[in-house]
Amino acid sequence: MTREIKTRIAPSPTGDPHVGTAYIALFNYVFAKKNGGKFLLRIEDTDQTRCRADSEKAIMESLRWLGLEWDEGPDCGGAAGPYRQSERQEIYLEHANILIERNEAYRCFCTPEILAKDREQQQKDGNRRFGYNRRCRNIEPEVSAKRAASGEPFTVRLKMPIDGTSVFRDELRGDISRPNEELDDQVLIKSDGFPTYHLANVVDDHLMGITHVIRAEEWIPSTPKHVRLYDAFGWEMPVWVHMPLLRNADKNKSKISKRKNPVSLQYYKEIGIFPETLVNFLALMGFSFGNDVEKFSLNEMTEVFSFEKISLGGPVFDLEKLTWLNGLYLREKSQNQLLDDVMSLYLNKEYLSKILPLVHERMKTITDFVDLTTFFFNADLDYSLEGRLMLPKTRTPKEMSALFEEAAEKIDVLVDYNHEELDRIFRGMAEERGWKIKEVFMPVRIACFARKASPPLFESMEVTGKERIRRRLRKAAEFIKTLPVQ
Ligand code: GLU
Repeated sequence: MTREIKTRIAPSPTGDPHVGTAYIALFNYVFAKKNGGKFLLRIEDTDQTRCRADSEKAIMESLRWLGLEWDEGPDCGGAAGPYRQSERQEIYLEHANILIERNEAYRCFCTPEILAKDREQQQKDGNRRFGYNRRCRNIEPEVSAKRAASGEPFTVRLKMPIDGTSVFRDELRGDISRPNEELDDQVLIKSDGFPTYHLANVVDDHLMGITHVIRAEEWIPSTPKHVRLYDAFGWEMPVWVHMPLLRNADKNKSKISKRKNPVSLQYYKEIGIFPETLVNFLALMGFSFGNDVEKFSLNEMTEVFSFEKISLGGPVFDLEKLTWLNGLYLREKSQNQLLDDVMSLYLNKEYLSKILPLVHERMKTITDFVDLTTFFFNADLDYSLEGRLMLPKTRTPKEMSALFEEAAEKIDVLVDYNHEELDRIFRGMAEERGWKIKEVFMPVRIACFARKASPPLFESMEVTGKERIRRRLRKAAEFIKTLPVQ
């Protein structure tokens, strides 16, 4: 019997919803729909220290905004649930125990201190292999069980082959091999009882009936471990499909990073990119429609999709191209539709009523409102007029751009983005550096609003929203680097 095609997107909710997640979700979605199968959403939140409660919600909202609706998931349920890994602890422990019983995995009692010492020694000896030295691999099962029963902490490790080569077939790339000596006896269960990504991911893919694992190329090095897990359990292997990574439009075509490109899906929504543009654009990153067609819908892509149409070249995430494509969609819209879009993004009572109190005192006529508030509506700003003021005479371009970069990083990890927090961040950075407050506040004002005078700084930054503000700070950091030292 052939299995029903099932794919999945398995994000870890550790931050803002990422363009890379949407890109991989898109290919999973399209492949499943093309084959009359199902597309699942699974939340991989086993690393509780890195997971954020708001992130899961934002990921779901963004995927829905793009039209990549899932058939099974934490909110809509399904036969193989729960779909949040933090709710599946027991399942992973059970499965780890199966592997211990089969002698495919073992308890490792080495403490972090012992492991650190081993590593030091390996370094001293100039060992080529830096992995775990497998000290616990041959402990007798009865002894191991007794030590565990006595309360000694342990991890569970997978027995990897010691020599030879691991080979697996990738649907796009053919056979991929890796010398086994490079592969560690992977930890499956950590000493706190939580599973690692590798165990949880494979167990869930199997139990959820995933037939095709379509994911980013960065997971290729881990795949031999996953293949080994499937073998150890005696399960049927999924088809492996590793998509090329999105890249920055820089000289080295480095992996897409927030420093060079906004990576949050929310940003694109807030600068007025249509969801259908973003889907089309992400599709172009890894897929050729044929006949040089560049503009197509999700349904059109689904109709013609096959793995042969995926291209492996490093796809460059080029904002200019995205904006150009958005223009094509925009011109096709009726004026009525467009009017709705314009109003729903910024020209609505909700948004305007946040801005009005900030400029009320400074207005003399109603029309002043427009002139005083343009930066609340812009995407990027033009620094050609006031940009120089981002650099106080007392500071170098390097110092100033470092400050902006640091501010953007701090905003990235803020859980509550609001004016009090922003005030704390920027005052804190001035204090840490021993700078005058105005050496920070004026440049930040210019970076965020491109004007010497603006409504209250931090309130205005709050209303503009973290997406555009951190983009502006990063753009400002770039701009300042082009200024001469004064
Ligand atoms: N949780 C992993 C991630 O965030 C999933 C990787 C996979 O698809 O196997 O990318």
